[in-house]
Amino acid sequence: MASTILPPTQFETDVSELSRVFNLQVENQYHIGNTTARQRLDKLNKLHNLILKYRPQIKEALYADYRKHPSEVDLTEIYPITSELKHTKAHLRSWMRGESVKTPFAMMGSSSRIKYESKGVVLIISPWNFPVNLTFGPLVSAIAAGNTVIIKPSEMTPHTSSLMKEMIAEVFNESEAVLVEGGVETSTELLKLPFNHIFFTGAPSIGKIVMKAAAEHLCSVTLELGGKSPTIVDESANISMAARRIAWGKYVNNGQVCIAPDYLYVHESKLEQFITEFKKQVKNFYNNDAANEVSYARIVNQRHYSRIKGYIDDALSKGAKIEVGGTFNKSKDFIAPTLMTNVAKDSTLMTEEIFGPVLPVYGYASVDAVINEINAREKPLALYIYSKKQKNINHVMNNTRAGGTCINHNAAHFFNSNLPFGGSNNSGIGKAHGYEGFKAFSNARAVFQQHLPNALDLLTPPYNDFKQRLIDLTIKWF
Ligand code: NAD
Repeated sequence: MASTILPPTQFETDVSELSRVFNLQVENQYHIGNTTARQRLDKLNKLHNLILKYRPQIKEALYADYRKHPSEVDLTEIYPITSELKHTKAHLRSWMRGESVKTPFAMMGSSSRIKYESKGVVLIISPWNFPVNLTFGPLVSAIAAGNTVIIKPSEMTPHTSSLMKEMIAEVFNESEAVLVEGGVETSTELLKLPFNHIFFTGAPSIGKIVMKAAAEHLCSVTLELGGKSPTIVDESANISMAARRIAWGKYVNNGQVCIAPDYLYVHESKLEQFITEFKKQVKNFYNNDAANEVSYARIVNQRHYSRIKGYIDDALSKGAKIEVGGTFNKSKDFIAPTLMTNVAKDSTLMTEEIFGPVLPVYGYASVDAVINEINAREKPLALYIYSKKQKNINHVMNNTRAGGTCINHNAAHFFNSNLPFGGSNNSGIGKAHGYEGFKAFSNARAVFQQHLPNALDLLTPPYNDFKQRLIDLTIKWF
């Protein structure tokens, strides 16, 4: 597919421009925050139509950025947003209604409720690996919650960023939502502004920079981070199905997926069978020629190509063996879908998040030893279990911690807006998608309303024995 779109202009956005739009949004925040459900639904409908209208251009931009196949764009960039939009539109009225909660008997004559009000002016910083999905996804929640929004996408997918800027300007006034292009410099300047919430998706190391900057203004954060997500295939699993799903989860988007299986344990009795099945699946997916198969995306740029190639070389120098793939073309940002065994645990392939099309696999005898290894690392964003035995599944679930888990699949939990999506500690803080996304961009305002005389009115100073007895009774009974 040849790109017909113009090359993007890459630049950092001027600080004065950032302050100008920020101030416009500060001015406008109550107006937007007080919009009705009908008004917000109208905006979400516009956003929905916008995504569908620009579907061909989105595909062109992503092909120009890293040769992503148009069908993969539909599946992993368009569908998650349209699905999130449908879910949000279906539930927005009830979310905006808030919640009535009980009031203790000692406070009778009153009522209590939670009002989800907009946080105000929010910042969304997005990564390059699903640039559309991970920009528009949080934007849906931010708009649903009634915020004004500044978006800073990644500088590494410039065609897509420049297109998204045009798209957002088509439906939003800059005093409500605006996309500013740029890289670290623009991001750094934005982080100095006193936003009311920052929603960041990216690497854990940058998440720490974001959180430190947010602390200056005591600004709340949602950090959608990454790390190494392990997968366990036990002796009872359907090996051919596991191999197919793992190969898909690993090589979709060329392995540049925060929730891709990063490293794999297969029960030793099934390792050989797994490798054979995996080889078969990779051949089927890419017609036995990934280098020339359009379904296989590319590594985003030379920097990331060299990083991943460096990990493979390091592992090979420490005795690793290539079971599948292992071919390269630097000028085309191409690394074949690769599976490796005998990877030393101190090689960079195992000390860093891989974020590319390479999968180390280990045979295991004791699942507890596997659990110990997983738990010795940072908590993963995702942990996957392939097994037919509920007892084994429960054992892994109860003895590990992770942002999310799929059983007998991988990455699929991202696509269900009813599930909270996010990590835990090093893999993330806070949750996204659906109601959780709406709440991330809302302040849960506690509203207590007194209707009739309150028992507490009897307990004001000066205190005396009678009042003390009433206090004692309250503590004892209510
Ligand atoms: P990144 O952290 O390098 O960049 C993300 C964004 O932060 C970009 O917009 C970038 O311009 C900005 N940025 C980079 N350095 C910065 C700095 N020093 N100060 C301020 N802003 C800065 O991440 P990436 O390379 O775009 O994406 C890959 C990482 O993101 C991986 O770790 C992956 O696991 C993670 N990720 C997580 C999720 C999730 O939902 N949890 C989704 C996708 C990617």
